[in-house]
Amino acid sequence: MERQIHKMKTDPVCGRKVDPHASGFAAFYDQRDFYFCSQGCLDHFHQDGKRYARKGLRGLWSRYLDRVQKATDGKPPCCH
Ligand SMILES: [Zn+2]
Repeated sequence: MERQIHKMKTDPVCGRKVDPHASGFAAFYDQRDFYFCSQGCLDHFHQDGKRYARKGLRGLWSRYLDRVQKATDGKPPCCH
C-alpha cells in the first residue's frame, strides 16, 4: 500500500527501502533504530556498524562543508 511508503526506513548497508514492520532484521545503535533487508546486511552492520551509522550524518555534514567552501572560495571560513 502506498501509505506505507512514509514508514519505510532505509537499509544503511545497501540503501534499499525497508518496511520496519515487515523486516525481521533490525539493530539499535547510537540511539537510533536501523532496519535491514536481509541477514547479510545486518551482519555487515554488526561488523562495521559505526561506519554505516554515521554515513548519513557525514553526508549532511559534508554537504554543509561543501556549501561553506563554495561560499568562501575554498578558504577556511573563520580565519580573519
Ligand atoms: Zn540490504
